[in-house]
Amino acid sequence: PKMDIPQKSECVKVVVRCRPLSDKEKQKGYERVVDMNTKRGTIEIRNPKLPPSDPKKTFTFDTVYDWNSKQKDLYEETFRDLVDNVLQGFNGTIFAYGQTGTGKTHTMQGIKNDPEQRGVIPNSFEHIFSHIQNSENQQYLIRASYLEIYQEEIRDLLSKDQSRRLELKERPDTGVYVKDLSSFVTKSVREIEHVMNVGNQNRSVGATDMNEHSSRSHAIFIITIECSEMGADEENHIRVGRLNLVDLAGSERQAKTKSEGERLKEATKINLSLSALGNVISALVDGKSTHIPYRDSKLTRLLQDSLGGNAKTVMVANIGPADYNFDETMSTLRYANRAK
Ligand code: ADP
Ligand code: MG
Repeated sequence: PKMDIPQKSECVKVVVRCRPLSDKEKQKGYERVVDMNTKRGTIEIRNPKLPPSDPKKTFTFDTVYDWNSKQKDLYEETFRDLVDNVLQGFNGTIFAYGQTGTGKTHTMQGIKNDPEQRGVIPNSFEHIFSHIQNSENQQYLIRASYLEIYQEEIRDLLSKDQSRRLELKERPDTGVYVKDLSSFVTKSVREIEHVMNVGNQNRSVGATDMNEHSSRSHAIFIITIECSEMGADEENHIRVGRLNLVDLAGSERQAKTKSEGERLKEATKINLSLSALGNVISALVDGKSTHIPYRDSKLTRLLQDSLGGNAKTVMVANIGPADYNFDETMSTLRYANRAK
């Protein structure tokens, strides 16, 4: 069958998801300043520092998900197409962006052992392996890798040696790759889930403060889907698609008092890859740019072959609904707005 190459305009999709007010936030009396119209794709936000009569700010996106949104709905409406595309041999990337505590990991991983609350990563496992089970004339090889970028250094989350740092390399034939990154062939949902769990455990290895560490590092789960099929010419044809599932570092600005010495260096690096990503995506969306600044950060360089061209990208911008998050929420909405 012939494949449709996605048009430029539909290559990058930006959706916004707002989590519910937490019990703790309710107890403390924080108020919701975010209003959403999921039919129109609009978000209205009120500045709590201004009088209630002050006009609200409005943003419009492809799709917006409010605090009632279900993991399954996000998967069916927003992610399934992209994963189908990867099964067809194209590359695809899903990003979760936003301030720490707004639901990035919830969106990507979800809650373990609760099928209703499964995030996009486990849902994509089910999708991929059920597709394989229902295919008759194709043979698939699924491989998984898992890495982390912390302070512009790459760590293989599936390696025995967690102290080792890996290098990015480039080859004319296969493009940009991480030298010596381990990858595991997986033959079932159970096997790939196991790989993910091992990587998740390793994320905390060497971290003195797990929350702080995960809020400052980018975690990238990579699924490589190789499909071989006998063509009409009686030759075997192989297509390879790559799915990148990215839980980004928290987008919050680092507090000034803490931003000294090592901390400042780190903060600069976190912001470097997030701002580089913003620049790459907005250049892609713009369509007129002749130069896409992939080389500006490890993250964008690593994902170079999966951003633009025939690849599809979905960015989920996660926000919190509460008044005290107003500044960070505005900053996330502006970032997302620039990327759409
Ligand atoms: P992040 O990864 O962005 O720091 P988390 O995914 O860890 O944020 O979410 C912070 C908290 O909010 C967690 O307890 C999570 O379960 C909860 N949460 C996030 N998004 C939702 C949602 N859409 N519905 C219900 N709870 C959510
Ligand atoms: Mg997280």
